[in-house]
Amino acid sequence: MSLHPAFLFIGSEQACVQKAREILRNTLCKKQGCTECVDCSLIEEKKHYLLLWLTPDNYYTLSQIEVVFKVLAFALQPNEHFFIVFERADLFNQATANSLLKVLEEPPRGYHFILLAQRAEGILPTIWSRCLVEVLSYQESQDKHPLYRYFTSYTYKDAGDFTKELDRHKTLERDMSVLLDQLAAFWHQRMLLCYESGNEQESNTAYALESLVHEARRHAPLPGSAKIFLKNLYLSFFKLVANQST
Ligand SMILES: [Zn+2]
Repeated sequence: MSLHPAFLFIGSEQACVQKAREILRNTLCKKQGCTECVDCSLIEEKKHYLLLWLTPDNYYTLSQIEVVFKVLAFALQPNEHFFIVFERADLFNQATANSLLKVLEEPPRGYHFILLAQRAEGILPTIWSRCLVEVLSYQESQDKHPLYRYFTSYTYKDAGDFTKELDRHKTLERDMSVLLDQLAAFWHQRMLLCYESGNEQESNTAYALESLVHEARRHAPLPGSAKIFLKNLYLSFFKLVANQST
């Protein structure tokens, strides 16, 4: 079986842990990830003997990384797989990250790394570039808010059309947080994809738009002012995109 040496999953904590467990089960369970055998329940408890699961309270320390190297020093049986999970990939500092770069790229035979993070911010590019990155979407099945499409392009010129659309919706206030969550998720993912493909400028724009959404989330509209709130948000998007493209 061939597995990438290092995975990086970005998403909600629950989605990340689930994804990590899925890989562990698929590899370590002898019954195709049955979820019921001894292997599967040890994976569930993060205690499997072929697993080192690290959950730091603060930045990773060099002594924690030393433990990793002690584990890596054991030669595995042919076809045996060992997983090292770093639960917070955003908590490496330059020193701990540097000490890991070589093994992330080329771990000893049978060893694999799984890195998890809730957000892309704070993940060092040196770590990022060595991992197979997957952004886990946690709202896949949810229908998009009718105003979603107005905030997910790079053209914000049909403000008249937007204002008309606003008048059509009677539940703006109720659905505001759903819309803002969907927009934050969209721009976050766009930022990551552009970053990955080396398009730094577009990645920066997406990041700035995501920040606008987060800012908006912190200042939820007062009752009765949802329409003005969204018009202002639309205008902020318009200004930001116009500035970036000049
Ligand atoms: Zn099992």
